[in-house]
Amino acid sequence: MKRRHFIQVMGVTSVALAAGISCTSTNKKFKNWVWLRGGQKNTDAELLVFLEKLKKNNIDGILPEGGNEWYKRLAPLAQKVGLDFHAWRWTMNRGGYMKEHPEWYAVNRNGDSVIDKPPYVKYYRWLCPSRPEVKQLLIDDYVNLCKIEGLTGVHLDYVRYCDVILPIALQPKYNLVQDHEMPEFDYCYCELCRSKFKEEHGVDPLEMKDPTASKEWKEWRLNQLVKVVNAIAEEVHKTGKEISAAVFPTPEIASNLVRQNWAEFNLDMFMPMIYFKDYNGDLDWVARIVKEDAAIAKRKGAKFYAGLHMGHVRQFGLKPVIETCMKNGADGVSFFTGHSLKDNEWMEFSNFWKNY
Ligand SMILES: [Zn+2]
Repeated sequence: MKRRHFIQVMGVTSVALAAGISCTSTNKKFKNWVWLRGGQKNTDAELLVFLEKLKKNNIDGILPEGGNEWYKRLAPLAQKVGLDFHAWRWTMNRGGYMKEHPEWYAVNRNGDSVIDKPPYVKYYRWLCPSRPEVKQLLIDDYVNLCKIEGLTGVHLDYVRYCDVILPIALQPKYNLVQDHEMPEFDYCYCELCRSKFKEEHGVDPLEMKDPTASKEWKEWRLNQLVKVVNAIAEEVHKTGKEISAAVFPTPEIASNLVRQNWAEFNLDMFMPMIYFKDYNGDLDWVARIVKEDAAIAKRKGAKFYAGLHMGHVRQFGLKPVIETCMKNGADGVSFFTGHSLKDNEWMEFSNFWKNY
């Protein structure tokens, strides 16, 4: 939807009018989404059957992963069925430029680049958000996606720094106890970030006694990413398309774990990954997180869809989890992934919405 862009272009006086349009354009107060992977080997007829099944089961939009050619094929099919389509593409974690532009990549507090020592997993190849060339590359990529017919928006993922602290339940998987910010997971100490920060604050972060204790240094890095995201959002909005993102559970958790202060991102919708098992969270935890996110989204005039991992949802059951999200202010949910729901779960999901 073009409401945010419309408001930005037309100015504050158009807010009421724009809100009126949004109310009359749909009777439904909620929307649901699914992240999708694969499907490239299916025929168009098979894909249509699947998309129609989603639509019939109260899904309103899809977030498919893939290349531009795949999107060119899938987006018109989604349009035919009446599904919104946000192209899901990783933002800061991209390994494709390591040979030509090693200087674009993030460096940790030990001075190691993600190129030589990818942290945690081999596919962790984080770009540095301070590089103007990186910002331009990302803007061009997302704007280019917006030209694809049938696409209603773009979806950012891995739109953050490397995890300086992993969610508590994931630490044992890597044999780690992260009770402090360890240098090998703490980015970005590349030459450019250090010199830019020194220019603005008079000190090289590596020369601080304890860089992890510096509020200025943390804020500065949070803001480098905010600037990149908002530059992408601004250009995407100029094309009339929407922009959404998969983010960490709350801006506070996201800032502390992955330096992602998404409360400052100018996006149309947020799909925070409320993957409660990673945080040893129960339904009360979900309720608290959802309430916080709903308030932030409301303040920003954005939509908030609770991102749910089906592998986690089954711990409590589909209905109790969705009920908790909706009661606490979510605009709907987004499933990871749309392929993982079984027929009985689709039925349970459909039945739930009959009361809305
Ligand atoms: Zn850097």
